[in-house]
Formats: sequence, structure tokens, C-alpha cells
Amino acid sequence: MLTSKRAAGKLELGAFPRGRAILQRLSGLRNHIQLLVNTYIKRYPRYGLNPFRAKPKDTSFHNLLFLRLEVTSLCNANCSFCVYQFNNRPRISMDEDIYEKAVSEFTALGGGRLDFSPIVGDALIDRELEKKIAFARQDPRITSIDFFTNGILLTRERFDSLVEAGMTHVVISMTSFDPEEYEQLYRGGKYQTVLRNLYAISESPHFKRISPHITIKTGKLDCRSQPDFIEMKRRGFVIWVQHEIDSWDNQITQSDLPDTMSISSMPAKQRNRGPCLQLASIAVRANGSMTYCGCRDDRPESDLCFGNIRDQGLTDDAMNPNGVLARVTEQFMNNDPDDLPDVCKNCTMYQPFGPVYPKYNAKHRFN
Ligand code: SF4
Ligand code: SF4
Repeated sequence: MLTSKRAAGKLELGAFPRGRAILQRLSGLRNHIQLLVNTYIKRYPRYGLNPFRAKPKDTSFHNLLFLRLEVTSLCNANCSFCVYQFNNRPRISMDEDIYEKAVSEFTALGGGRLDFSPIVGDALIDRELEKKIAFARQDPRITSIDFFTNGILLTRERFDSLVEAGMTHVVISMTSFDPEEYEQLYRGGKYQTVLRNLYAISESPHFKRISPHITIKTGKLDCRSQPDFIEMKRRGFVIWVQHEIDSWDNQITQSDLPDTMSISSMPAKQRNRGPCLQLASIAVRANGSMTYCGCRDDRPESDLCFGNIRDQGLTDDAMNPNGVLARVTEQFMNNDPDDLPDVCKNCTMYQPFGPVYPKYNAKHRFN
């Protein structure tokens, strides 16, 4: 039974580990409920519980769950499963004026989570990343700042300086702990660098708070028994394993992958579940062009693109009843798979709008 003792008017639970664990869980639950309320009730007063069922009538709130900023479209890897090798968008870093305009508009609309994962590219190539993070962090309406990286440049020093600037979470994308597989999938001979970085950041005093995740793409079904996998788990990394790859709108084919991996096929459950979660976000690409999908929309122009932030506001399109968002939302609501935007038709990254995102995000935000 949990008993507590009070010392000098303060609850002391150091001697009661179970009590402390229960309190931590309650605090996590409170964060989760708070985020659900903020996400679904406060932020969507006119949408009801499904933000896609009604049109906004008021520009004083927005339906953005997060803003993705492609701080650079350059990458220092050349993965066999990635569309970067065929990418024909300009490979550039985002200008400061684009960045500041996007962040300022987002905070003026209420703020929330900032995601620096490029559609393709690696945010750590941007030497100004800490400065950009610090600029956003100074506004309390920004609730979290995170991104995916291939980890090649994530040294312990860089990790610490990013956390000190305001980064709240990071996900490292790699293969299983096998140099040969890494060379086959990521190419470029950086396996040992990434491994060294993982060990080094696990020693950082910030490690526990940031709780870095590793996402592993692998054809090895036994990857969980690799010694480095076991050691990474022991050190506290959360590890996701993925054996199948999305085709990036049929641009990646089975011939780009080793025999042990396959292209995912779209599960039937992805049908009839309403608009994709990505439509509740906006991605501003490095050149300022905007799209509703920062996950898979890598083409210079697509059905999800809606202009450039240099000459229009972040939510101008969302507020237009005849805009791209209204049209695409309608397409998803019609449940006709053939009538979806082209980039969405075969996409296996579809995620329905539900409580998964707030749950994940509740864990990785500023206190
Ligand atoms: S998957 Fe990521 S790391 Fe690999 S080439 Fe594409 S953008 Fe770069
Ligand atoms: S279905 Fe795929 S391409 Fe379409 S918005 Fe969702 S993640 Fe993006």
C-alpha cells in the first residue's frame, strides 16, 4: 500500500519507488488529457471532435497539429529506399526570412509542435539549426521541437548543444546493427560513426529527458538479438523496427531493396478512416513552397501543394472554402480510393486522425 510521509510540508517519496511511479503515471495521464483537450476541444471549437467535418469560420484559431519546417533539403546519405536519389527539387537550406516568417505566423496562430524533419534531407546539415531552434524556443507558444535524423552528424557535442538550444526529442533512423546491411541500405560507409554517436549521446546528462528513439529499417528478422541492439535497449533507447518500405508513390521498387526487405502494400484498414493526419499539418519546404504532407510529398508540384510562404500566409489556403485543403479533405471523406490525390493513392504512411499523435506528442514537450 502506498504511504507517504511529509517533511517540512513537502511530500517525500524518495523512499517509496512505487508511489513515485504511480505519481509519474498520473502526471503523464494529466499531460495526455491536457493535450487531448487542447487539441480536440479548445483548438477545434467549430469543428467538433472531427476537425475535418466542418469548415472553419474564424481565422483566430487554426487546425494545425504541427508545423514541419524543412530547414534543408540536402542529405549526407544516399539510401537505397529513399526518393532522395531521384529528387529533383533544389537542394538548399532554408533562408532565415522564410524560417522566421513561418515560425512567427505559427505562433501568432497559437503555436504547438515544430518538426524539423525534412521531407528528404538531414536537419543536422544546417549549421544554423541551434540558432533556429533557439529562435523558436523563446516563444512559449512553441510546445516542442523535434526531428528525425540519420545520426551521422549527431555527435555528443551536437546533441548537447541542440538540447541546450531547445530540442525536446530526436529520432535516429538507421539499419539493424550490422555494418554490411547499413552499407547496402544507407550507403556511404558511416555505420561506425552512427554507432559511436549513439553510444556517446547515451552518456549525455540530457539523454533521459530527451528519450531518443531509434527507428531501424532491416531485413533481419533476428535483429533484436544483435548485441548492440540489446545494449542500446539497456541504455534506454526506444527502438522501432520496420521490415517493409513505402514506395514513395511507386518511385522506389523492389529492385532498389535487398531481397530480405519488401515494399509495403496498403492494408485494407487504411480505407474509410477519414483524412490522413498529415492534413492537419503544414510543411514549409526549404524554398518556401508549402504542402499538406511533409511525410511523402516530395514532388515539386502535387495535389497537396498550395503556394509559397514568401507571398502568402500559412493558413490562407486552409481558410479558403475552395482551397486545396477543402478539396483534399472532401476527397478523403468521399471514401473513393481512386479519387484521392495521386501522391496518397498508394501511400502506406497514411495515418488516421486519432489519439495516437497527441499521446506520442505529450511525452516529448517542454515541461
Ligand atoms: S532516408 Fe533520410 S538519410 Fe536516407 S537519403 Fe533519404 S533523407 Fe537522406
Ligand atoms: S496518405 Fe501519405 S501522401 Fe497522403 S497525406 Fe498521408 S502520408 Fe501524405
